[in-house]
Amino acid sequence: MISQLSPSILKNSCLDKFHDECGVFGIYSPYKIDTFSLIQFGLFALQHRGQEACGFSVLRDGFIISHKSEGLVLDFFRKISNSECYHGNAVIGHTRYSTEGGQSKKNIQPFFGEDSYGRSTISIVHNGNLVNAQYIRKKLEYQGINFISEYSDSEVILRLIQKYLPESNNSLEKAIQKTTTDIKGAYSVIVLMDNKMAAFRDPNGIRPLCYGMLNEETYIFSSETCGIDSVGGFYVRDLFPGEIIIVDKKSVQFSILTERKNTKRRICSFEYIYFSRPDSLIENINVYKIREKSGEKLYEQHPVEADVVIGVPDSGVPASIGYSKASGIPFKPILVKNKYIGRSFILPKQEMREKMVNLKLNPILYEIKGKRIVIIDDSIVRGTTSRRLVYILRKAGAKEIHFRSASPPIIGPCYLGVDTPSKKDLISYNYIDKKNIAKILNVDSLEFLSMDNFIDILGSIHYCFGCFTGNYPIQKTH
Ligand code: AMP
Repeated sequence: MISQLSPSILKNSCLDKFHDECGVFGIYSPYKIDTFSLIQFGLFALQHRGQEACGFSVLRDGFIISHKSEGLVLDFFRKISNSECYHGNAVIGHTRYSTEGGQSKKNIQPFFGEDSYGRSTISIVHNGNLVNAQYIRKKLEYQGINFISEYSDSEVILRLIQKYLPESNNSLEKAIQKTTTDIKGAYSVIVLMDNKMAAFRDPNGIRPLCYGMLNEETYIFSSETCGIDSVGGFYVRDLFPGEIIIVDKKSVQFSILTERKNTKRRICSFEYIYFSRPDSLIENINVYKIREKSGEKLYEQHPVEADVVIGVPDSGVPASIGYSKASGIPFKPILVKNKYIGRSFILPKQEMREKMVNLKLNPILYEIKGKRIVIIDDSIVRGTTSRRLVYILRKAGAKEIHFRSASPPIIGPCYLGVDTPSKKDLISYNYIDKKNIAKILNVDSLEFLSMDNFIDILGSIHYCFGCFTGNYPIQKTH
């Protein structure tokens, strides 16, 4: 196991800069199938989880072939002319979203390991963020293990599995068990190796990972159920927190990580607020339903008289429909989103993010003049979108603006796999009192969904609420 490292070894690493949000997908069949098309569908369905790069690894005739590049899924696949070469019996893939400092091509997934003849023998995709990756990487490098990526925590998982395989009699399950006693953080991982596929999830189950079937023998693993739907499969269930599933030609094996003991289920609550697609089920709960209910609760929490409810597309719309249902105030889709634009956080500089809002969202002006408006967004992070939208609505002649956030105030960054800015950039952390924030946003009233109501909607406290409360299931170690 990994032992103590001196602080000087850790000093120069840049791993701590790296966070990402990603989607993972995999299909295993005992027979040759059109893995090229299936992975394309699966990754396209998960495009919202990462828009900077993507890639896949196919198991074909016992060998792993990988292809990865920057860009959107369809652009990436369009460039591949010899699609038949990527037909095999299993495939894993990844869509990636990185933040400042993590955009190197070397960090694109899947990561694979090679034998002494240069043939890929193992490949992995990972969604999440490890809190001790920097520490483990330095330790492994010290032991002579080479890394390809600049600061990917996902490669740390791969190198650990590779390290533990020989001492585990080549048992993938044992190597994963050993790996997970070293790593700490959020991880939903799919591994392709030796004619088998393994999927596993961290003991808290922070990032989602579910499985389904395409037919009786073909298994699908996906970050969200929308991936399973995209290939015409049916959803079976989410992997339990700390579960490992290994499929090969003859069998499927389910086991639980030893690390699971004494660890509580803590699924990321922000997946429901913003990150996942509304048609997805996470832990068998429909994301749209949670968003709609949050709008209903927002109205119960703070009723207001108004002429129209509008939602910030896309993730604010279900909550505004819920608000409209509860209040009887008509919902109108009068904020128009340019569908061809990515999520505004992709721009690392604030100045460009501000400009991007103008490109991305535009109101139907004549529906606004003289109206009392309730505007609902899924969350307020830096306040960039909300400030800009209020400015546009005021300019269009809105009489009153009541801003509602369908989530509690975000007061802490996420270091478990969602790209949230550091505290100094979070408007709710800096201005604490919502009256101050209302002044900054220039709105007549401002309300956030209360934590109690949020928990009530989710139906339990077994979630990670770190960005809302500052209490995280795992402490940041290095
Ligand atoms: P801001 O404009 O900084 O207040 O951010 C809030 C807006 O960004 C909302 O419209 C959200 O839908 C969206 N958003 C919230 N969290 C994220 C995230 N982690 N990545 C990208 N966009 C986000």
